[in-house]
Amino acid sequence: MSEVVVCGAGGFIGGHLVAGLLREPGNRVRAVDVKPIDEWFQAFGEADNRVADLSDRQACREALKGARYVFNLAADMGGMGFIEANKARCMLSVLINTHLLLAAREHDVERFFFASSACVYAADKQTSTDVLPLKESDAYPAMPEDGYGWEKLFSERMCRHFSEDFDLATRVARYHNVYGPHGTYDGGREKAPAAICRKVVEAKLSGRHEIEIWGDGKQTRSFMFVDDCVFGTGMLMRSDVTEPLNLGSAHLVTIDELVSIVEEIAGLELRRRYRLDAPQGVRGRNSDNTLIRQRLGWEPQISLEEGLGKTYAWIHDQMAAGSYRWGQALSSGAGV
Ligand code: NAD
Repeated sequence: MSEVVVCGAGGFIGGHLVAGLLREPGNRVRAVDVKPIDEWFQAFGEADNRVADLSDRQACREALKGARYVFNLAADMGGMGFIEANKARCMLSVLINTHLLLAAREHDVERFFFASSACVYAADKQTSTDVLPLKESDAYPAMPEDGYGWEKLFSERMCRHFSEDFDLATRVARYHNVYGPHGTYDGGREKAPAAICRKVVEAKLSGRHEIEIWGDGKQTRSFMFVDDCVFGTGMLMRSDVTEPLNLGSAHLVTIDELVSIVEEIAGLELRRRYRLDAPQGVRGRNSDNTLIRQRLGWEPQISLEEGLGKTYAWIHDQMAAGSYRWGQALSSGAGV
């Protein structure tokens, strides 16, 4: 039996990762998050579910006791709206990764995974919508996204130096825009795909056929469905790849195109209002998948149409079931 610890297990990707690990025979999974268990996106009875604040060193020691494999996905984060308004909070996640690395070293953990981000790449490489995909070496010379990106890049390097100096085997993925069911779709921390699905469901259920879009809709991104993210994370963890690897889709779309796909799924066409003063992040970003193809012989595969279909259906069901706080979301306009 392998003792696997997932940190940030109550979160979006963490919940899917725990599900995937539980499906593999031979894993005993400990799931840890700071949120009360009833607020986790997914909680599984077969896992050892624990609530702990992993920015605390002692809590990390407790959480990793007996662990062979550790996945660190715990971070205080959200979409562009959250990241731009909470730089100090994002940087404080450095306590989580630092204390987890120290605990992993103390407990002789076999392998440690860190979830980094495409936000480690310099903004001046992302100023045009017609982007050159970002390759791993583009992270240096360093000028990451303020706050959140700096924390991720620093923590990547902590992993590298723990591996070089203390012989702790670490693996690092730079996730690019992950989306899917069982994630945040309102409240201010949501990312573009979930926010767009929510706004289209709002339009459908309310009969007000319009949508507010952050920016001019021409900004470009690539989006990876969460099943690809979990599969790639597992492959990277099992591999001998010690340097950070992009884990993202290489299929570039504009935000307008993303809205059109969701409209098609919903069977609606909406009047678009563009909010040019809203947070929108970099102008364009795509993942260069040369290295992951070379090293893992694989790259994310699931199409936006398929992934957004599943995401839209889940968000629609949540909102139609009445758990949605209409007033708050309509007035905050949070999202895209
Ligand atoms: P999420 O916010 O849904 O999950 C993060 C979880 O970490 C939350 O459940 C949160 O409660 C938990 N957490 C925060 N502080 C904690 C603490 N002190 N102790 C214990 N748990 C704590 O985010 P996600 O989308 O699932 O992202 C998972 C990881 O992947 C994060 O590190 C994130 O930065 C990274 N990432 C995500 C994306 C994406 O598109 N979702 C892109 C790039 C990187």
